[in-house]
Amino acid sequence: MENLKPSLSIRNVSKTYANGVQALKNITLTIPNGMYGLLGPNGAGKSTLMRMLATLQEPDEGSIKLGAIDVLYQKEEVRQTLGYLPQEFGVYPKATAEELLDYFAVLKGITTRAARKEVIESLLKQTNLWDKRKQKLGGFSGGMKQRFGVAVALLGNPKLLIVDEPTAGLDPAERVRFMNLLSELGENSVVILSTHIVEDVSELCTNMAIINKGEILLEAQPQQAVAALKGRVWRKLTEKSALPELEQEHQVISAKLLSGRTMVHIYSPETPGSDFELVEPDLEDVYFSTMTGNYVQPQRVEEVLV
Ligand code: ADP
Repeated sequence: MENLKPSLSIRNVSKTYANGVQALKNITLTIPNGMYGLLGPNGAGKSTLMRMLATLQEPDEGSIKLGAIDVLYQKEEVRQTLGYLPQEFGVYPKATAEELLDYFAVLKGITTRAARKEVIESLLKQTNLWDKRKQKLGGFSGGMKQRFGVAVALLGNPKLLIVDEPTAGLDPAERVRFMNLLSELGENSVVILSTHIVEDVSELCTNMAIINKGEILLEAQPQQAVAALKGRVWRKLTEKSALPELEQEHQVISAKLLSGRTMVHIYSPETPGSDFELVEPDLEDVYFSTMTGNYVQPQRVEEVLV
């Protein structure tokens, strides 16, 4: 039943906005089944790509296929199988969760009242909002609103779910709850998670890409990418004032404040000196070393592993 979980193929996609900003530069990506993380800083081009996948925006060049469906030319077919949770969405503050979900269910074409009742109950339970169904959306917390957004996006059983920066602005407890919900969804459909938060990807995604300034810098499986950095990341606790000198001598991948001092991570295939300590790398090291141009190219990841 391959077409139940189609993979997404993005080929040579470019987009320049009217103001001259080149938001996507010849992007080619294959997004398989499961949870996929698109990781990059603000302004990288993530939302532009997500809106294209959701058929809300056209590229200047390139092609996008969802299984056998041509996303750019068969928009209606895509919309029937797609759930999209945009970065920002409005809710009617005076409506209750149940009322608004019922309204959207009608728009989705679930016309019989009994069918809607069943779908709405199941979605509100799945998103942990069943107890809150009679509450007005205006009083919902950020996390509750996001989960309500997921309930709306899941109407009609989408095979592809796109969530754009879903955890930005959530407090830690809400974030954990939301991530748990997403991971359950990833078991049954293709979920693309766009985010600038490394932990979102490391905790959930089986595949990922790192995007910056409209370009894909790395396509990898998070665990493999981390493994490929083993033995190459070193750290040193130092003063902030020592940073310029360290940057001259080493390939600094990150510098973080730690109890008033600065924890520096560097990339080095060889021992950089006795005052450095070898680090067990994590996805943050992969992210920062990719962003600083130190990380091995994706085609070399497998070579490093064998
Ligand atoms: P991200 O989601 O990674 O933060 P975006 O796709 O929103 O990135 O933006 C990529 C680049 O395109 C940024 O430089 C942004 O300012 C620009 N941009 C986004 N939307 C528009 C628009 N509608 N018109 C002009 N520039 C835009």
